[in-house]
Amino acid sequence: MSAPKPTTNQPAVDEARSAVAQVRNRPTYEERALERFGLPPELYFKAVEQAPVAISITDPRANILYANRAFSLVTGFSFEEVQHHNESVLSDRRTPSIVYESLWSSLLRQRPWTGRLVNRRRDGTRYLAELTVAPVLDESRTTIHYLGMHRDVTEEHMLEQAVQNQRALIDSLLDCAPMWFAAIEGSGGVALSNAPFRDAASVFDGDLGRTLLIALCGDAEERFADLREARAPVPDRELEIELGGGVGVRRVSLVGRWLDENDSSADAFFRSGGQRYFLIFGTDVTSLREQESQVRTNAMRALIAEEERVQELQEILNAAVFRFQLPINLLSTALRSAERHGYEPLAHKTLVEAVRQAVREGRELLERLGESVPEVPDTPVEEASIPQLLREVLQLSTHRLMAEDIVVDVAIGDIPALRGKPGRLRALFKELIDNAIDAMGSGTERAIVVKASVEGRTAVVSIADTGPGIPEALHYKVFEPLFSRSKNKRDGAGMGLTRVQNIVSEHSGTVYVDSNYRDGCRMVVELPLQEGQ
Ligand code: FAD
Repeated sequence: MSAPKPTTNQPAVDEARSAVAQVRNRPTYEERALERFGLPPELYFKAVEQAPVAISITDPRANILYANRAFSLVTGFSFEEVQHHNESVLSDRRTPSIVYESLWSSLLRQRPWTGRLVNRRRDGTRYLAELTVAPVLDESRTTIHYLGMHRDVTEEHMLEQAVQNQRALIDSLLDCAPMWFAAIEGSGGVALSNAPFRDAASVFDGDLGRTLLIALCGDAEERFADLREARAPVPDRELEIELGGGVGVRRVSLVGRWLDENDSSADAFFRSGGQRYFLIFGTDVTSLREQESQVRTNAMRALIAEEERVQELQEILNAAVFRFQLPINLLSTALRSAERHGYEPLAHKTLVEAVRQAVREGRELLERLGESVPEVPDTPVEEASIPQLLREVLQLSTHRLMAEDIVVDVAIGDIPALRGKPGRLRALFKELIDNAIDAMGSGTERAIVVKASVEGRTAVVSIADTGPGIPEALHYKVFEPLFSRSKNKRDGAGMGLTRVQNIVSEHSGTVYVDSNYRDGCRMVVELPLQEGQ
């Protein structure tokens, strides 16, 4: 019996066969891609082999199946040395395990991972690797391989660190520097500042950055824009700023400089550009200025004391000459009268001779005394600022005024500088202030009012006190030499106002007691201002 012939549905079989053949012959994804790009498969291998990045392909357990040339160059391992070894052959214990955990956690979720880890070369040296690992999936989306790509970024990292270190150093230097620092951007806002600036800004009633900017560049907004555009130099300035929080008024020296920053964005890679900042540096010079002012005041005080000493000596000697002159003149007159009347009896001859001798010697002595009167050194004529001189004199007298609890009211206007002798004018104002303080004694309401203004072409300075005043009959006499109303006078010889009168005359001015003033004494000094002032 022959085997039964299989009965088949030939067309269906053919169709099935053709379908199987179609499935078998269907090109893979890679084959289809190769066909589409028209590139030979070896090219992909060559490209990977010659790529300048260390590339490795592993199995799902990270055992190396392939490594390119760059891999050997970077790691020092030949392919044969690492083949079938785990990628951990490169690992260094300095990489924290959390990094590997993160790497594997991504890979197990079939996600690529990029990060930095410390690798060890064949020779044991370490380098920082920037690694990207990506899973390679088959058609059923199962991970069949991993692709690893890494490069040595040690130098890059060192540069980044160096920049960061430098920045940290600059930041801490700026924070430690005993000065304010603020970088102002184009909008006028503070882009960067140091700790002292921020401390001051926190107790300043207003916008400190803006205030400093206005002090250096002026109020108008366009002005800052113009200066910024032209990178124009801005002159240094000093400014008084009141800070809260118990800090008080500070004197700050301001310096402004321009800084162009390079643009780090990708857009600016091939063309220059970037931000222009206005850097403001503020140094607190309060105590420096106070010290300078103290030194100036002390020097002035010493100078005035010296001048006063010489003048006092001059006055005492002049007074002595004056007082001795009188008896000698009397003796001389008596002698002349005796001679004229031929009254020279023998009995008195010796006495008359003695008187003659005394007169002669007295004259010689007076002459020598007169010659030895010291001269107050002449001071040069220069620009003299009355407001400044008045302020200096008030400063010189601060201790006395405070000690004697005297209220000082000052109204000093703008007065152009005059040509004169500043030292002499200072002495003049000091004399008037001292007189005012002396005059008030121990009265209850003790105040001095100092006013200075310009009237026409004349600078008018008045110094008023709340003392007993000067009787009108003495308004001229007080300026006479050796006139003194006080028994206990500081200016012993009564020459103070004479000196004042002399100094005013040297400056072609006038000084008088204001007869309209009733609440004490008001001395008025008028000094002509030169043409063109
Ligand atoms: P391991 O014992 O290898 O592993 C540490 C942690 O990773 C453990 O928590 C462990 O559970 C987990 N882990 C390890 N292997 C697997 C795995 N197959 N599946 C799931 N979890 C796992 N490491 C480097 O130090 N330098 C490299 O340049 C580097 N390149 C790599 C390239 C590729 C393509 C791949 C896939 C991995 C690479 N690795 C690299 C990681 C490496 O395989 C090790 O995981 C790592 O070096 C830590 O090694 P280990 O011996 O200290 O710890």
